[in-house]
Amino acid sequence: MSDTIFHKIIRREIPADIVYEDEHLVAFRDIAPQAPVHVLFVPKVDFATLNDVPMTQAEVVGRLAVAAADYAKREGFAEDGYRIVMNCNANAGQTVFQVHLHLLAGAPLGRFGTAR
Ligand code: 5GP
Repeated sequence: MSDTIFHKIIRREIPADIVYEDEHLVAFRDIAPQAPVHVLFVPKVDFATLNDVPMTQAEVVGRLAVAAADYAKREGFAEDGYRIVMNCNANAGQTVFQVHLHLLAGAPLGRFGTAR
């Protein structure tokens, strides 16, 4: 397994506020939340970026999205709405090179686009 901060969280070597885990993925609160709810969904298989996920393993990404939706339903904000985001490489500002999905919710969210 690779050795990003997220791998250390998955291996319980550093603490995190884990809100969900199954055999495929772990979800925990972002340390620097950008919305009232900001949870990261991280697969247990190693892929540095979305570019590295082959079509034959598309379910790795699909599970992150569906797990985020399930979490939103359980927590009661699915109908109000939420955003899922996956940053890939420099122009998107990816900082941790283990593929992950951001779930942002809890308030109306601003639009997104190019940096100003
Ligand atoms: P990226 O910018 O790569 O899409 O997102 C990485 C996210 O990981 C950032 O939102 C950042 O705040 C979060 N993060 C970085 N280090 C830690 C950590 O040690 N613990 C937790 N819970 N989140 C982290």
